[in-house]
Amino acid sequence: MATTREKETMNTASTAAPRATETLKAAIAGRVFVPGGADYDQGRQAWNLAVDERPAVVVEAESAADVAQAVRYARARGMRIAPQGTGHGASPLEPLDGAMLLRTTCMRQVRVDPATRTARAEAGAVWQDVTVPAGRHGLAALAGSSPDLGVTGYTLGGGLGWLARRYGLAANSVTAAELVTPGGDLVRADADHEPDLFWAVRGGGSVGVVTALEMRLYPVGELYAGDLFFPIARAAEVLHAWREWTEIVPDEVTSLAPILRLPPLPEIPEPLRGRAFVMIEAACLGDADTGAELIGPLRRLGPELDTVAMTPAPALGQLNMDPPQPGASQGDGAFLADLPTATRVFRSWCRRRSPPGPGITASPTSGSWSPGSTPRSAQSPSPPPRLSTTCPRSPTCSGAGAAPSTSAVTRRRSRRSASCPSSSGTSTWRCCRPTGCASGP
Ligand SMILES: Cc1cc2nc3c(=O)[nH]c(=O)nc-3n(C[C@H](O)[C@H](O)[C@H](O)COP(=O)(O)OP(=O)(O)OC[C@H]3O[C@@H](n4cnc5c(N)ncnc54)[C@H](O)[C@@H]3O)c2cc1C
Repeated sequence: MATTREKETMNTASTAAPRATETLKAAIAGRVFVPGGADYDQGRQAWNLAVDERPAVVVEAESAADVAQAVRYARARGMRIAPQGTGHGASPLEPLDGAMLLRTTCMRQVRVDPATRTARAEAGAVWQDVTVPAGRHGLAALAGSSPDLGVTGYTLGGGLGWLARRYGLAANSVTAAELVTPGGDLVRADADHEPDLFWAVRGGGSVGVVTALEMRLYPVGELYAGDLFFPIARAAEVLHAWREWTEIVPDEVTSLAPILRLPPLPEIPEPLRGRAFVMIEAACLGDADTGAELIGPLRRLGPELDTVAMTPAPALGQLNMDPPQPGASQGDGAFLADLPTATRVFRSWCRRRSPPGPGITASPTSGSWSPGSTPRSAQSPSPPPRLSTTCPRSPTCSGAGAAPSTSAVTRRRSRRSASCPSSSGTSTWRCCRPTGCASGP
């Protein structure tokens, strides 16, 4: 949401902020932070600690009514608004000088309805707020790779998760969105009400500040999922085998192939410490026998560590070993036609960054691509594999693809990529099994 009065806004915001924000504070149940005030730094801190957002005002809304008040306040002053849940996707934001950072972090109420197999999640909910209660009813949401990823930002951007090849992108399972329009009105958009808005909000960009999403859930209590670790020296052999495998497996299988470089930190189990691996992460819908049959060709390659087993759907959040706490990160992403292209793009990315040598993740979203073929983005709505990169210094380095749904973009700023230890120095090692920590082979 933008206005043409940005410049004026910056002046207004910096000089009139104290008096004006008192009015805002009085009008909402949530909190308001301004530069120089106590808690401003805490209020503006995104999940990605590398992002230094300095908005003119931070509003931490507690309800849809708060969001509407904040939007009206910003509108009256010509301020831009940046809605934010967790700040996982904060790095693509333009500078927030003179803008309002409108955080929905406190709005985490979730309702799961097993009868209709739907969930309603307030805008600040993170995926574990949905997957855990849904899991109690044998249902799964189309969640992202991290339990603390925001439901809203992930879903509005498409949302590519572990069930994507069978059930599609999260945005396509949204049944209704409640949002505050730029005019400050709270509306519900679904197939019958505000259908254009409903269409636009599902991946169409900034059409309002979402206050809640309703979505379909799927009857998946458990599935066959986990990680296979191979020494990095076998990368070529394993990645080629994986690529061929992705061409024959059914849509019940979604997989990723990260390259993981683990630092020599004491909290990493000794057999893995300081080593590099090529991994295959896979989630197969179905029972253990079906899953074992599907994974068989990769298992026969002889992984050093194999954690693939029947797994409760909520535990898919541990499969990719994403960092469990905020951290500083940087990354890049690209739609690619084939694996050799991935390698070239990755090398050039590394040359442009310091320190060099991060990780790589390739994810085929449709199950097939072939060397030298036309990029899938140019052929059909299914994007070709996406590359993401990970920082070599993180003990929880891993990559997951946030593949935007249908764009023909060939190179873009990444939504997710590198994950380095947090600036607070806290970092933990979580390995492999969705249901617990592995200690190595
Ligand atoms: C560790 C990690 C793992 C990831 N895993 C996956 C994955 O498996 N699959 C995948 O597809 N992507 C993944 N991503 C990318 C992720 O989907 C994007 O970064 C997404 O934008 C994060 O959403 P958020 O709400 O957590 O972040 P935020 O930074 O809070 O929001 C991101 C953007 O969403 C919009 N937004 C947020 N809230 C609202 C609102 N209430 N109203 C309107 N707009 C809003 C805004 O444009 C905002 O800038 C991952 C990212 C990270 C860092």
